[in-house]
Amino acid sequence: MQVRPVYDVFVIGGGVNGCGIARDAAGRGYQVFLAEMNDLASGTSSKATKLIHGGLRYLEYYEFRLVREALKEREVLWRMAPHIIWPLRFVLPCTPGLRQPWLLRLGLFLYDHIGGRHLLPGTKTLDMKGDPAARPLKPVFSRAFEYSDCWVNDARLVVLNARDAADHGSVIRTRTRVTGAERREGVWRITLSNEHPHGAPAEEVVEARLLVNASGPWVDEVLRNAVGRNTAHNVRLVEGGHIVVRRKYDDPRAYLFQNRDGRIVFAIPYERDFTLIGTTDRDYEGDPSDVAIADEEIDYLCGAASEYFAEPVRREDIVSTYAGVRPLFDDHASKAQEATRDYVLKADGGEGKAPILNIFGGKLTTYRRLAEHALEEIGRLIGEKGAAWTADAPLPGGEFAATAFADELRRLRDDYPFLSPRHAERLFRLYGRTASTILGKATSHDDLGRLFGHDLYEAELRHLVAREWAITAEDVLWRRTKLGLVLDDSEKDEVAEWLCEHAAGAEKEMHRHGTGAG
Ligand code: FAD
Repeated sequence: MQVRPVYDVFVIGGGVNGCGIARDAAGRGYQVFLAEMNDLASGTSSKATKLIHGGLRYLEYYEFRLVREALKEREVLWRMAPHIIWPLRFVLPCTPGLRQPWLLRLGLFLYDHIGGRHLLPGTKTLDMKGDPAARPLKPVFSRAFEYSDCWVNDARLVVLNARDAADHGSVIRTRTRVTGAERREGVWRITLSNEHPHGAPAEEVVEARLLVNASGPWVDEVLRNAVGRNTAHNVRLVEGGHIVVRRKYDDPRAYLFQNRDGRIVFAIPYERDFTLIGTTDRDYEGDPSDVAIADEEIDYLCGAASEYFAEPVRREDIVSTYAGVRPLFDDHASKAQEATRDYVLKADGGEGKAPILNIFGGKLTTYRRLAEHALEEIGRLIGEKGAAWTADAPLPGGEFAATAFADELRRLRDDYPFLSPRHAERLFRLYGRTASTILGKATSHDDLGRLFGHDLYEAELRHLVAREWAITAEDVLWRRTKLGLVLDDSEKDEVAEWLCEHAAGAEKEMHRHGTGAG
């Protein structure tokens, strides 16, 4: 068989970092191939607390570079994707015996001033005797601070980066595991195994000039098993869990609670009817695919939130949980919560030896800057192409001003008056302007096809299969949407059956065209 380099950049891993790098590289004119062994964002990138934040807590560890970069990214990302990212105010109650109010105020002063804040409002002090934020809490807090960060739909951030990468010509291949990568005559020969749930197993070999290992918590495993580096040990795996409970309070703000052990826990309004509470930090060993929240973490989160809420958070209030593994660069910090959240890029090769770029650590918030840094390295290793471009380029559906969300939503409702306000808002929050492509010429619910439950119609499923690589019910119910929280078991089964029938056909199409869905 003739061996010939085809792709410039081969990316292993369809999390936020892999998809961010693929998008940036494809937009600069590189030929890109991305392989994800499972679904897009099925790793850590859908298991986050979902904040686009500087990380107030990291100031305590003197992570000024990271905090500054992350703070600056808040408004850049909000402008890029105002449908899936939006500002959120946080209430931080001052708790007697814990961090002193002057220290919190100092941290928030830095937070407000070191990171290019233009649109987000600054910190203010709340008198908890009269502020509605005090209502759901125990009546023991006299003062709190209120500050800004942003919220992100993490799994959709990933999929929209993948979509844009594909629109710029990148191949995006899901359910495709990289099982081997070897250097041959100055290029990488990468062996792929197709793990599509509805397809026959198959192997394929792809060639590329440069390999990017963006496999998150699997980064060392990929180095050991696929690339043959027997001793790779670069990441510290730190698990974090969340619980989802029925809505604990009506206020639109989130809370940041300080715990007696020095850690913090967030309580955040989630998917309209729920409250998200998290997270924990503990070292993790084993396969990252098997991670699940442990009983003692559930107790910890219930206990921490119950220290603050007047109505305790009980196990029976929990409707859902999730856990993820942070792939932190191993800086040998003693405690899991102290390990650096900054990212590290390490390149090997060049000058005749096909290069590999390994990505360690990072946060959702810094993925775009991480990708820009990766592209600088890629340019150095295989030759530059194009300039940095992503800071001002909206993600699909986000082609409107960050402050125009309400006007845009109103327009969607005017165009499709048969949608309930709730349905219109759900669609606009997920798809932004792409919502009108999904709805097309529909003038009534009947035009949207079969109803699967809640407000999930066939038209949306068709879009997810054709344009967003959705294959299984889990992809749709827990990553592309969060309808898993509200559909009952028989409705979920119907979604699964429909996908079984339709996603198999879509996969064949995808392989025939070679460039991913759509
Ligand atoms: P991943 O998302 O894990 O992607 C790696 C991908 O590689 C996976 O999808 C995996 O399936 C794939 N893969 C692995 N091996 C192979 C192979 N052999 N072939 C093909 N594919 C392969 N960050 C924030 O900014 N804000 C937050 O609020 C926040 N909260 C967090 C809370 C928790 C509990 C955790 C765990 C993390 C949090 N983070 C947060 C951090 C953020 O989620 C991660 O840094 C980020 O998602 C890592 O993305 P990634 O692309 O590196 O890894």
